[in-house]
Amino acid sequence: MPVLAKLLGGASKASSLQQLAGLGQRAALAATQQAGFASQSYPVIDHQYDAIVVGAGGAGLRAAVGLSELGFNTACITKLFPTRSHTVAAQGGINAALGNMTEDDWRWHAYDTIKGSDWLGDQDAIHYMCREAPKAVIELENYGLPFSRTEDGKIYQRAFGGQSLDFGKGGQAYRCACAADRTGHAMLHTLYGQAMKHDIQFYVEYFALDLIMDSDGVCRGVMALCMEDGTLHRFQAHQTVLATGGYGRAYFSATSAHTCTGDGNAMAARAGIPLQDLEFVQFHPTGIYGAGCLITEGSRGEGGILRNSEGERFMERYAPTAKDLASRDVVSRSMTMEIREGRGCGPEKDHIYLHLNHLPPELLAERLPGISETAAIFAGVDVTKEPIPVLPTVHYNMGGVPTNYMGEVLAPTPDNPDKVVPGLFAAGEAACASVHGANRLGANSLLDIVVFGRACANRIGQIMKPNTPHKPLPATAGEGAVARLDKLRNAKGNLRTAEIRRNMQKVMQNNAAVFRTQESLEEGCKLIDETMASFQDVKTTDRGLVWNTDLIETLELENLLINAAVTMHSAEKRKESRGAHAREDFTQRDDANWMKHTLGFLPSTNDKVNISYRPVHMKPLSEEMPFIPPKPRVY
Ligand SMILES: Cc1cc2nc3c(=O)[nH]c(=O)nc-3n(C[C@H](O)[C@H](O)[C@H](O)COP(=O)(O)OP(=O)(O)OC[C@H]3O[C@@H](n4cnc5c(N)ncnc54)[C@H](O)[C@@H]3O)c2cc1C
Repeated sequence: MPVLAKLLGGASKASSLQQLAGLGQRAALAATQQAGFASQSYPVIDHQYDAIVVGAGGAGLRAAVGLSELGFNTACITKLFPTRSHTVAAQGGINAALGNMTEDDWRWHAYDTIKGSDWLGDQDAIHYMCREAPKAVIELENYGLPFSRTEDGKIYQRAFGGQSLDFGKGGQAYRCACAADRTGHAMLHTLYGQAMKHDIQFYVEYFALDLIMDSDGVCRGVMALCMEDGTLHRFQAHQTVLATGGYGRAYFSATSAHTCTGDGNAMAARAGIPLQDLEFVQFHPTGIYGAGCLITEGSRGEGGILRNSEGERFMERYAPTAKDLASRDVVSRSMTMEIREGRGCGPEKDHIYLHLNHLPPELLAERLPGISETAAIFAGVDVTKEPIPVLPTVHYNMGGVPTNYMGEVLAPTPDNPDKVVPGLFAAGEAACASVHGANRLGANSLLDIVVFGRACANRIGQIMKPNTPHKPLPATAGEGAVARLDKLRNAKGNLRTAEIRRNMQKVMQNNAAVFRTQESLEEGCKLIDETMASFQDVKTTDRGLVWNTDLIETLELENLLINAAVTMHSAEKRKESRGAHAREDFTQRDDANWMKHTLGFLPSTNDKVNISYRPVHMKPLSEEMPFIPPKPRVY
């Protein structure tokens, strides 16, 4: 047993942050000589928990709170301080059929979500999410989330893209509950407050490296690096929940934080688990031109309008009914068409204007204060007087680790497309349940993270009891992760991490864009494979272990490359247009051949992407919701 583990009695709770800090780097170094795996001299500290959550964004925190409420001895590992997770940046809000502004029904919400997904979403998971939505929002209200209010004190709900009443027949729905334009901020702080009430052991600024899998294919925990002092930690758990967020940073221009590097996805991929539907990458219509910062769809929900260089409200042509509030893929494509046809704004005719200046200044101050400030800082624009220059910008990953509606991770086989990986769960943007299918509707992700974070905890409550004894881990558990870290820490190649990252981001931006062709994708596959191969020649310069950001960024790059390569290859294979995947050479949706989830396998950056497929779940959970048959998607 590693020496440090013995020092700490192999304990879980015993190895609190204070004790680790007390042990410090000197003790770690002293142990280096004698401890660790045979092949390397890294000390390893062991921990045992009933359940471990990797990630402390909305999904991770909600899962951890639920697990702790059920009496599970729970740890939450996070590379960021919890309230710095990307959830904090969410602006627009969270959908639920509360019916505060008009009559509403969760089935109408489910209909919109299925249509928005372009029929690639699993109808059982969508049924579950939309039915649970009102409860989830009321729960957040009870937790203390400071929602915006109507005159009579109810939760205010704004219009959002792709939302309708009465199965698409009743006009625009007002379904998006919000806290002005800082809903994610309010949500994350509220959930963190709740987490503090519970006995959850946080490991903050710990970087999860890899899953620990045994020879039976069961997940037994996770390996992590404490970024502060460089110690390595082996977390053993009966259940591991991945809630590590998206990988927007595989692209050059993204609204996502620099920390959105798809680490959990890559950990699953390295464990032999496929990544599902990665070709579906959402471009948000209104990223600030140049800076990439988000201007929420709520700005159009409150009456904002997109105009081209001729001053025309062009969305009336593309989506006569929903106009500026058509779903995001539709609006992003329409903007791109306008620019291509020479009606872009500015000296280079390469962006579009978002007008809010016709709206009352009081409304902007009350409902959109955050984006008014963002526009002033990042575009130098006073929104009460001038339009904001905007451009479709990478925003969200519909794909991720495949799960069922209870959050259990799937490793499909030809005989069993719904085969569960024992001991492993996923929730939030890292997961693909799949509720968003080929295109996520705005304000459905804040919903997804709380509903499926909670679902993971509930399912774990059904399948195991708190304080179940642990079996010993395989002797080599975690060795591979340490070897990978050691290799990168001592990498002496010729290419800097930032160089390879820039190459990858350019390839993704150019070749897996809003519009795609066989030519752009084939070239993209070749280029991304070359970029991935060039990672063998990476160079790191910091050989230390204390706050080695060079090493962390390199580990993140390796993870991004896995996500990027699977995205490109999955996109190249899919010969149809569906949701966010718009092919100029296959312009129609092809349900006969392509109504299926892509599964992309890529266990390391040395391998080649392998693709297979699994069927979409077309049946809702029960008869309380009607099956929504596929039909053309018009707004
Ligand atoms: C600018 C912006 C605005 C948005 N606005 C909205 C909106 O209004 N409505 C809506 O529904 N959706 C919105 N979205 C989408 C939504 O906010 C995200 O999809 C959602 O918050 C993701 O939550 P999450 O919990 O899955 O992940 P995140 O909040 O991204 O959290 C990921 C967590 O994983 C941890 N982590 C990652 N890798 C590791 C690792 N290797 N080791 C340890 N920890 C790790 C991080 O520390 C972090 O705590 C927006 C997204 C962006 C970028």
